[in-house]
Amino acid sequence: MLSVLTVPAFDDNYLWLIHDGTHAAVVDPGDATPILAALEAHALSLVAILLTHHHADHIGGVPRLLQHRRVPVFGPAHENIAAVDHLLVEGDIATIPELGLSLSVLDVPGHTRGHIAYVAAEQQWLFCGDTLFAGGCGRLFEGTPAQMSASLAKLAALPDTTQVYCAHEYTMANLRFARAVDPENVTLVERIEREQAKRTRGEPTVPSTIKLEKSTNPFLRYREPAIIDRLIAENRIDTREPIAAFAALREWKNGYR
Ligand code: ZN
Ligand code: FE
Repeated sequence: MLSVLTVPAFDDNYLWLIHDGTHAAVVDPGDATPILAALEAHALSLVAILLTHHHADHIGGVPRLLQHRRVPVFGPAHENIAAVDHLLVEGDIATIPELGLSLSVLDVPGHTRGHIAYVAAEQQWLFCGDTLFAGGCGRLFEGTPAQMSASLAKLAALPDTTQVYCAHEYTMANLRFARAVDPENVTLVERIEREQAKRTRGEPTVPSTIKLEKSTNPFLRYREPAIIDRLIAENRIDTREPIAAFAALREWKNGYR
């Protein structure tokens, strides 16, 4: 029986430890210190490292973890990450025999050019790095709106009950923006209350689910007529073309406080 431990790092990162009580694989270890502490606290031995993209807050802890223990490092084939020895593209399977775990790989370019996501189909877990966030999506540093919207569509096509393990606690800021864009969405208003209560209690809002994201995340809902109407009313687009709407939404969010 596998479970996922939440390891907070920096201001708002989540590093994920997938474990069976004995062995553990870490997703996106931006910092080694909290991972080594969690391994020690739960008496786990590290057996693999999984990376979604090349940003420092996702890979910074890798060298020290490898000093601690020489383990396979899985990561995107289309990014330059020196430590990666298992290069992955869409359709590949990352197998971690110690955990009896198979993760299938999706190419999800947009935030970075080679960003990948990992899907544990049996467990219904998605590890999506900085692509899909709870209530939002990653910034477009290296990709285009068309790429990012296609990447998000792949994730939205996963089963509704899939747990979304994204890499940051950006949820409340994302949902404040979502409310500005999609104010009539009752499910969104209810979600904001629930997630705010979690934050007040000091709890993470992650993981969420694909179902919840599809009903409240504007970056999955940009084709909704109400959202397109809103973008037109705000003079952010003068067409109903979906990719233009997605691009305008991302731009609006970039400047939103
Ligand atoms: Zn990133
Ligand atoms: Fe990040």
